[in-house]
Amino acid sequence: LISLKGKRALITGAASGIGRATAIRFAEAGADLELVDLNESGLEETKALVEEFGVDVNLHRVDLSRKVEVDALWEVLRGREPTVLVNNAGVYWFKDFTEVDEGFYEKVMAINLHSVFWMCQNFVRLRKERGGVIINVSSIEAFLPFAKGLAHYDAAKLGVVALTRAIAREYGKRIRANVVVPGGIETEGVRRLKKEAIMKLDMEKIGMSFNFNARLPVGRFGEPDEVARVVLFLASDLASYVNGAIIPVDGGFLST
Ligand code: NAD
Repeated sequence: LISLKGKRALITGAASGIGRATAIRFAEAGADLELVDLNESGLEETKALVEEFGVDVNLHRVDLSRKVEVDALWEVLRGREPTVLVNNAGVYWFKDFTEVDEGFYEKVMAINLHSVFWMCQNFVRLRKERGGVIINVSSIEAFLPFAKGLAHYDAAKLGVVALTRAIAREYGKRIRANVVVPGGIETEGVRRLKKEAIMKLDMEKIGMSFNFNARLPVGRFGEPDEVARVVLFLASDLASYVNGAIIPVDGGFLST
């Protein structure tokens, strides 16, 4: 059994999908939790799901796209600093490349890349002597852009990979930093997307078409928990020699 006893983990995007599944796995493994999201009611629901494990759980409503809010979060965490950081929050908002304007671009970058940068910086400042673990969530889209209308997302998600490897290299004596690369995972976010796309009869346009399943060796979308279990391993001491790694959890999508 994997144990995270004695560890305190901060998970962003914990109100939904992969973040929520990770919170549940971590709590089951005995980690105390700092759960971060914009969505307060979703955070409360996650809390209700992890309560049975008897760990300490604190909720933080933070808009990660705003650096002032990120820094304020780390002020609140003084005295109970996390030893594990999971940067999972992200948005996959589709927009035709030719229609992306500055405001949209900056918002997507702020959530998907800049917030990860500032979260990691705060964490490394605190933990660079005492040690810690970072797990950043990228996407198969960063390595093989296949959906139309996600160029901004792809750029941000590949940025996350470079950032993580830079940290792994520079602080590897004390901090392990790795990237998880989910494939198509059936989360609330993806379900919303499919529903909207179906409503607009626009499956083809967003590229989340049936071709996706066809080139997928396992022939199905993944479950949030299938990503969470990999994050759990990386967070644990079992992964003590895994640093700077890029780990697809994609049913083999990138290998085809
Ligand atoms: P989701 O939409 O189900 O959950 C994402 C969470 O992030 C939400 O609870 C949302 O409120 C939160 N969030 C968004 N913007 C925020 C902000 N500014 N501040 C704070 N919280 C914010 O998403 P998911 O499908 O679980 O995806 C989780 C991560 O995995 C994302 O980074 C996503 O890009 C990545 N990913 C997902 C898939 C997939 O198929 N689901 C595939 C590849 C990568």
